Amino acid sequence: MTYFLDVILPIPLQKAFTYHITAAEAQFLKLGMRVAVPFGKSKIYTALAYNIHNTAPTSYEAKTIHQILDDRPVVSEIQLKHWEWIANYYMCSLGEVMRAAMPNAFILESETIISKNEQIEIKDSELKDDEFLIYEALNYQSSLKIQDVVSILDKKRVLPVIKNLVEKGVLHLQEELYEKYQPKLVRYVKLHNNHKSEEKLQELLEILSRAPKQREVILALFALEASDNKPIKVSELVERSGTSSAIVKALIDKGILEEYHIQTDRIQFEGDGDADSKTLNEAQRQAFKEIETTFQSKSVALLHGVTSSGKTEIYVQLIQKQLEQGKQILYLLPEIALTTQLVHRLQDYFGDKVAVFHSRYSGNERVEVWNNMLNNSEKAQVIIGARSSLLLPFNNLGLIIVDEEHEQSYKQFDPAPRYHARDAAIVLANMHMAKTLLGSATPSLESYFNASQGKYGLIELNTRYNNVLMPDIELVDLADKYKRKRMKGHFSDRLIEEMTDTLEQGFQIILFQNRRGFSPIVECTTCGNSPQCPNCDVSLTYHQYRDQLRCHYCGYNSAMLKRCQGCGSHTLDTKGFGTEQIEEEVKVLFPEKKVARMDLDTTRGKFGFEKIINSFEQREVDILVGTQMLTKGLDFRHVKLVGIMNADNLLNFPDFRAHERSYQLMAQVSGRAGRTDIRGKVLIQTYNPHHNILQQVSTNSFKEMYSEQMNDRYNYKYPPIYRLIKITFKHKDYNRVNLAADWYAKSLRQVFKANVLGPEFPAISRIRNLYNKNILVKIPQKQSLAKTKEAIKKIDNSFNAVKDFRSVRVIINVDNY
Ligand code: ADP
Ligand code: ZN
Ligand code: ZN
Repeated sequence: MTYFLDVILPIPLQKAFTYHITAAEAQFLKLGMRVAVPFGKSKIYTALAYNIHNTAPTSYEAKTIHQILDDRPVVSEIQLKHWEWIANYYMCSLGEVMRAAMPNAFILESETIISKNEQIEIKDSELKDDEFLIYEALNYQSSLKIQDVVSILDKKRVLPVIKNLVEKGVLHLQEELYEKYQPKLVRYVKLHNNHKSEEKLQELLEILSRAPKQREVILALFALEASDNKPIKVSELVERSGTSSAIVKALIDKGILEEYHIQTDRIQFEGDGDADSKTLNEAQRQAFKEIETTFQSKSVALLHGVTSSGKTEIYVQLIQKQLEQGKQILYLLPEIALTTQLVHRLQDYFGDKVAVFHSRYSGNERVEVWNNMLNNSEKAQVIIGARSSLLLPFNNLGLIIVDEEHEQSYKQFDPAPRYHARDAAIVLANMHMAKTLLGSATPSLESYFNASQGKYGLIELNTRYNNVLMPDIELVDLADKYKRKRMKGHFSDRLIEEMTDTLEQGFQIILFQNRRGFSPIVECTTCGNSPQCPNCDVSLTYHQYRDQLRCHYCGYNSAMLKRCQGCGSHTLDTKGFGTEQIEEEVKVLFPEKKVARMDLDTTRGKFGFEKIINSFEQREVDILVGTQMLTKGLDFRHVKLVGIMNADNLLNFPDFRAHERSYQLMAQVSGRAGRTDIRGKVLIQTYNPHHNILQQVSTNSFKEMYSEQMNDRYNYKYPPIYRLIKITFKHKDYNRVNLAADWYAKSLRQVFKANVLGPEFPAISRIRNLYNKNILVKIPQKQSLAKTKEAIKKIDNSFNAVKDFRSVRVIINVDNY
């Protein structure tokens, strides 16, 4: 009997690839074990065992595998089933899903580059012969490709040796080098040793009786020390004493308090795990009960709770219940880097049971989470992560929470699999017979529609946690303000007034502007010419800080021009504004206040986000200027005012979801104001104060927004009424993109008739020297999705058979967002 093994290779292949195996291998191998296989002329890949059978492939001679790498599966059956669903639904290969799911250290291949881990001391005697040879070679060369190892060891089968070395921590994979984990420092204070004795203390309090505020701080410090024995953060002390960080600083300067830093390690757990969960208030308790009741009859529930209604505390209770039943919980977040606040909160409750799956963590740490899950370890009961954590080896899932379910970053754009994590989560939960809870203050139209159809349960929470009123939202008419000369730069008199008041009362301010840089357009006032990116069809953005022109699509940059490239005159002017310009203007308006900026430019470093979030939290910053990054679930306690600098470029974005998104964005930014006990204030500056969306945002009328937008979606046949598949063509040659897209569209029209839109160039038709053209296929509800995809695949195959089109990249995006 001859045995064959189908494997999944981590590359975009249409079908599983088949190898020849021995009877003994066939006996030993199980679905989900890794094997090293040769591929093509000289490549080696790590593949996953998929299917064992006795049928030889017909179109090629099956090669033998190099060897088996595992003695038990590293991917579970249910996990594979879920991957298959993703590949099938989102029209990509299983190999692409595998590549997205598995840490790189799991899928060593001939192209993998290894280097020595300098932080580890290893004795030669601890290494086997083969291992030593590799180690030795790395003393002379900083890195090696797996191919090099093949020649050093003079054998083909090298992956197990490398795998062992990686597992021992002796080697790194190349891409991990700049991913190294940096510890995070938090500021704490304690009483200086000089004042620790009873008598010194009395002395101190007496001296401070003339400085009542400083005295308050010291008393608050004692109170905090007495209530729990934890290190005291500067921010806690300021809060407890009702003073300011300036006063704490004065005490530090005098040598009465001592400042110190503790390294908080986010991978090792840091919470005690014994914080008592908060007692839910009446509204939360009601919502919690409704969720439980919903889950008796439905597998998905949507929790629509206004910002700061205390949704997180409800999640905590649900997680607690699942843990008691020994179940795993997956907590999905749109962007993990921005949510350390939440991670800390959950670690305080669940301590060691929480595992964070973070794409910024190094490969080894990701491997650790994976292995902990395979081993059913205590340490991986509550998994927090962004979309790719869906692809982990769950074996006993009870609940998935999709927080901020409306966020578009749940949808992966590039590369494949182009999956939507919310939708794929529901499928995963169903496979485990688990439940899914979607939560948001501004649900997506999709989810709200599903809820209104009875497909999901709907739970509404309309009051903020301690009955703080929703922020008071005021619309400021820019046209009128400019006409009456009530503007200073981009600030209306109203905004300046409110900012002044807020700062005087000691509160913080957030200013939102959805563009970064100084100004998006530079224009010559003599001839009208404006500098364009040489690689893309966009104007270059001026960045004042570096005195540079930059392209936000491809990263191209050049020094700012001294004169116009068209006519040579010096009359270059800037148009429009970004975060950098707002920051500049704030500094001029409030010179004595501290301003910080949070956008892609200031958060590039690995912990860029956290530094800014921390210093804002610690009230070292009074005014924070930023882009949408500000909207994502941040819980700042002292923000009273939020300013939206210009609502119009959100509303005018050329996309059928622009209005829905604008509502979500503005409601979410507004939600950052007044989260504790004082009512927040929001000012929205706009040229269209009568725009329906702005009216709805300012009156907190989600349902009105929903029904109005749904009307449009009905009328124009867009999701959630119709489904969409977007097909994008990319090529450096303009004509070829046109020909290819026309050919494709014509074939599609023969099948789908009027439900094919385009081909059309998008707003930016060339990016990185590639022209883009799009076709949209609209799919009515009663049309079979499976048949639709089959038809598209057929067309795609014939398309690929045309010689002229082979170099055109075709990207198929199902449920395009
Ligand atoms: P949401 O997730 O709905 O925006 P949060 O869960 O962040 O709201 O709650 C807002 C604030 O109210 C948080 O600072 C939280 O600690 C506090 N909070 C919520 N529920 C309770 C509760 N039951 N007891 C005490 N504090 C609570
Ligand atoms: Zn000019
Ligand atoms: Zn560019």
